[in-house]
Amino acid sequence: MLIPLSKPDITDLEKQYVLEALDSGQLSFGPKLRQFERMVAKQTDRKFAVAMNSGTSALHIAVKAMGLKAGDEVLTTSYSFIASANCLLYEGVVPVFVDISAETFNMDVERIEKAITPKTKAILAVHIFGQTLPMNRVMEIAKRHHLKVIEDACESLGAEWGGKPAGSFGDAAVIAFYPNKQITTGEGGMLVTNDEEVCKLAQSWRNQGRSIDNTWLSHERLGYNYRMSDLQAAVGCAQMERLDEILRKRELAAQTYKRLIEENNLDVRTIQVLPSAKLSWFIFIIALPPEINRAKVISVLSECGVQCKPYFSCIHTQPCYAGRYKVAPDGLEVSLQQSLRTLAIPFYSNITEQEQNYVIKNLAQAVMEAAEDGRGD
Ligand SMILES: *Cc1c(COP(=O)(O)O)cnc(C)c1O
Repeated sequence: MLIPLSKPDITDLEKQYVLEALDSGQLSFGPKLRQFERMVAKQTDRKFAVAMNSGTSALHIAVKAMGLKAGDEVLTTSYSFIASANCLLYEGVVPVFVDISAETFNMDVERIEKAITPKTKAILAVHIFGQTLPMNRVMEIAKRHHLKVIEDACESLGAEWGGKPAGSFGDAAVIAFYPNKQITTGEGGMLVTNDEEVCKLAQSWRNQGRSIDNTWLSHERLGYNYRMSDLQAAVGCAQMERLDEILRKRELAAQTYKRLIEENNLDVRTIQVLPSAKLSWFIFIIALPPEINRAKVISVLSECGVQCKPYFSCIHTQPCYAGRYKVAPDGLEVSLQQSLRTLAIPFYSNITEQEQNYVIKNLAQAVMEAAEDGRGD
């Protein structure tokens, strides 16, 4: 048996919409793009949505649209995908890494205020693994200190905090559609906001800095080509139509994993969901006990066809970050500890119970072997 880490959920509906887009003759800025933007705006409870070619591009534009400049400081997490901090470095903005909670793997909101300095201009709230930060707290802190808030909701489409959707809280928020996310467009991202000015700037920047009325060769500002094609948007429309179904399947798969972990007496931790949060399952993360050799577990699993990956390495330990970030006063001990223990196991909406059983049985075996092995090193 070969079980991949992730797999997109594509049906005839996605194929039909792509054919419609091809037949429309408008492969860029066509009707599917507008429709996809409307659907994501509605889901995130926003007035405006601007589709782009990746989550990274949309984050970059969000940073620019917030008026962040070289030397400004932004509070964020090191335990994340590198794009969530790269978007700051593109503009010379300094990421200030705040430690995480070992239970949720999200930035620890209780540590945010200590990290604020006169240079702090914003909080980049990354909703890790499909769980939003406690956004009532984040918004309250931001308001008190006059900080902008960008939500990196790239892993959290469909999640909620206090009954409100991820992406609905900050001055701007970003969703992503890489194939391992809840829904995919192959590659893609979207900026959502209630601020018309931010929307207009984003529309201009994604389209070579053209004026909003799209005058062909009038470039008002230095822009980019961050456009999403209508073929991608067509896939996105079908995925959005199926969002409830996809999220339901992922929820079911996650509950099955939790049950199997319990039935097999596996000594691993899974993400803790806070009472006000509704999680939208992105990947399935387990944290191994500290004495277990993670590399050994991964290699044993790989030998039986189960694909697993360490998730995440801390961003501040990446070679390209040397000298370009700051650490909040509390340090980054929890981030570093967790990043050595956590790994992602196969997870996608159409994973079968048989596959999950196979993963957990072999994981139990691998943990046992790694425990015996681990004592030696
Ligand atoms: C996926 C992801 C992004 C954006 O990734 P792209 O591949 O550029 O779409 C940004 N931040 C986080 C936390 C992510 O998981």
